[in-house]
Amino acid sequence: MRDADKPCLREGSESAQFTRGLAVAWEVSLTRSCYTTLESGSFELLAVAMLLIRNTEVEGVSGLDVRCRRGRVVEIGRILAAEGERVLDADGGAVLPGLHDHHLHFFALAAAQRSVRCGPPEVPDAAALEAVLRDAPGDGWIRGVGYHESVAGRLDRARLDRMVADRPLRVQHRSGKMWFVNTAAAQALGLGPESNGRLFRRDRWLGTRVDGDVDVAATTRLLASCGVTGFTDATPHNDPAAVRDLVAAAPLQHVVAMGDESLSEGALKIMLDDFELPGIDALRTRMAGAHAAGRPVAVHCVTRTELVFALSTLLEAGAVPEDRIEHASVADAAGMELLARAGVTVVTQPNFVAERGDRYLAEVPASDHSHLYRGQGFLDAGIPLGGGTDTPFGDADPWLAIRAAVTRETPAGKALGAGEALTPERALALFTTPPEEPGGAPRRVRVGEAADLCLLDRPWSRARLSLSRHRVAATVRAGEVTHVRPGALATGAKSHETDG
Ligand SMILES: [Zn+2]
Repeated sequence: MRDADKPCLREGSESAQFTRGLAVAWEVSLTRSCYTTLESGSFELLAVAMLLIRNTEVEGVSGLDVRCRRGRVVEIGRILAAEGERVLDADGGAVLPGLHDHHLHFFALAAAQRSVRCGPPEVPDAAALEAVLRDAPGDGWIRGVGYHESVAGRLDRARLDRMVADRPLRVQHRSGKMWFVNTAAAQALGLGPESNGRLFRRDRWLGTRVDGDVDVAATTRLLASCGVTGFTDATPHNDPAAVRDLVAAAPLQHVVAMGDESLSEGALKIMLDDFELPGIDALRTRMAGAHAAGRPVAVHCVTRTELVFALSTLLEAGAVPEDRIEHASVADAAGMELLARAGVTVVTQPNFVAERGDRYLAEVPASDHSHLYRGQGFLDAGIPLGGGTDTPFGDADPWLAIRAAVTRETPAGKALGAGEALTPERALALFTTPPEEPGGAPRRVRVGEAADLCLLDRPWSRARLSLSRHRVAATVRAGEVTHVRPGALATGAKSHETDG
């Protein structure tokens, strides 16, 4: 029997027992925002915690209403009576589980939003790079991101000085591994004159020396506007203070963090660079130490060598199912075999096909084209698969990744690994799996589940043909509306009606 045919589902008769006053008291004890409600004498904010989504499509069944209370879906049925809550009229649009980006870097994204783009396609050559850097707004530090050698070769201090000499300038390679600084920046950072201006894997060190003027509120809103209700921050140097900062900075998302050995939970993030791999004993000890502390590991692997090295070592250390391989960018038959044997999850970034695919086609040997950012190949091998954007190194919009996982299209419209294409439903599932289990079964919209929801502006049968963040009409996190696309839903009286 389908949900629509069932009698109205509800969570006991609890909500009916609430008088409006009791409900107020209950909600006040729950959220600080409701104190404001009481003080202002308005029920507006109270209504936020109590939500009724009208005329929506739930798991393919249209014409349903979804009631959310205290952060959960408590009732799904036809034409539910409003009980004084905020009402969103979905106008037939599908309601999906809110998206969870399983791999991003929140503070780096916030910083990138205040940064100058220094790479293709916006900046194709040296002249364009010099122009955007010279035109950078403000008068202090200039922060450039997304640089690639195709623009102006390998950067160093002297090269940057010829572009900008009068302001401290730092430019990040798009891999995230390397920063290049000019002389003014080198002096501000206390680097000696012998420095060539290349800073390899010095993110944390830089972060302590350059003040972070970032707009985190805009960043959490940006994610909400894409239907993102949660993310996993994959920054390797996250420590307990950083995790507290993340939770405070991203109130519109559920935050999961991996990080370094100082964390007591979340995966231990291990970075590998194939030209300076750690000793196998040291890596095995690190992995085993994390497991002994009850933490999985998440190993960054973007080359074939890194993947084989990581998995061979992990097999020796004793892999646990929660262990993850981040990226697995190049996975050939040997890599697949090791992944399957280890039984670990891959968190992939299909958006790189859509963002960098043409460069991969030009630079990666043709024999490896079908091994890049695979999709169906992982599933066929029984490897649990989740998705992340790796923003700001990729675009923050998970719908670009979902679409790319389906189309496998490069920016120039060429196919990259067409055999790896996923169905729209499977591609969506990369971002709807549980936060702590990226390769698990997708979350569902049903009674008792967290009210983390992504409301589309049309039924899924149509949305699947035009996958885009522009389909997101509203986002709900723990039962609170965190985003409404202007003009997407009935507003004013209709979205706030309390017809009781
Ligand atoms: Zn990353």
